[in-house]
Amino acid sequence: MLKIPIDEIIKKIKEKTGLDEKVIEKKIDEKVEELSGLVSKEGAAHIVANEFGIQLFKTTESGLQKIKNIVPGLKITSFVARILRIYPPKEFKTKKGNEGKVCSFLVGDDTGRMRVVFWDTNQIKLIEENKISEGDIIKITNCYVKEGLNGIEVHARSSSKIDVNPNIKEAKEIPPLEDLWQLSQRVQIKNITEKGVYEIRGAIVNILENNPFYEICPECRKRVNNNICEEHGEVKPKKSMFLSTIVDDGSDNMRVVFFGKQAEQILGMSAEEAYKLSQEHNNFFYPVQNKKPQILGRELIIEGRVSKNDFSGELEMIARRVVLPNPVIEAKNIIKELES
Ligand SMILES: [Zn+2]
Repeated sequence: MLKIPIDEIIKKIKEKTGLDEKVIEKKIDEKVEELSGLVSKEGAAHIVANEFGIQLFKTTESGLQKIKNIVPGLKITSFVARILRIYPPKEFKTKKGNEGKVCSFLVGDDTGRMRVVFWDTNQIKLIEENKISEGDIIKITNCYVKEGLNGIEVHARSSSKIDVNPNIKEAKEIPPLEDLWQLSQRVQIKNITEKGVYEIRGAIVNILENNPFYEICPECRKRVNNNICEEHGEVKPKKSMFLSTIVDDGSDNMRVVFFGKQAEQILGMSAEEAYKLSQEHNNFFYPVQNKKPQILGRELIIEGRVSKNDFSGELEMIARRVVLPNPVIEAKNIIKELES
């Protein structure tokens, strides 16, 4: 872990500023108070050093850090990254009864991915008013770092400054969205032993034969029963479909289910088209049967959520993104792996 003892930080500040140690310590104590206990004394020392323009960690010229260098020991960080996904704002109530909102992003740069969490209503407004979208590049300053359930989390403070698509050199170096998805940490199926979000690279080796069609609300795309959407009442439903498959990556295999858009992508046609085709052939499974030779054995990169199937008790993945491998990026990944 990147930890610098507080004495050393004070020493560095003293060297650069010529200030007395006592004065520096007082500044640090004031900073702890100013941030009302949000940071440790050590964290405050980092901020004070930062305010004097003293760099304790290796950063880019602008003080922006690459994701791989953002570690839990770091109490303050600024970075520029691309938004891979926006998790919409959620309301919550504290034990004391206070209401608030929280929102988060998954962001990435060429060195990794992390979650960024927002609590400040003004910052959340940017998302609610659609001023920030997936694919945008954001620069955020003055965040703090936490170890979350799924790895590193960076939390924005109210004082954090957010720049959307900043015109800076670092922003231009960030790979495009599709490349970032492909550069993500990948696992082998045999290493998936608990629920979570994973990316795998494998091929569909089998597709279950069942009626793949179901009906969704044209407004919210949620499943409807007897033309009734829980939210929108009586609707004229649209067709959607799902494919229940077995994916093998050479290490092991697992059930992967593709719903909606992902299923359409695999099949190469819309659910409406597939449904029409199935009606013409009087066979719900016809569109899948017909495309099977092209689908089976084709390699895919699949990102999805793994959880336990209620019936079988086995782990299965619900795909949420499917990409056909890009050979150039794949080769780079392999080289990177061999080098590390
Ligand atoms: Zn609806």
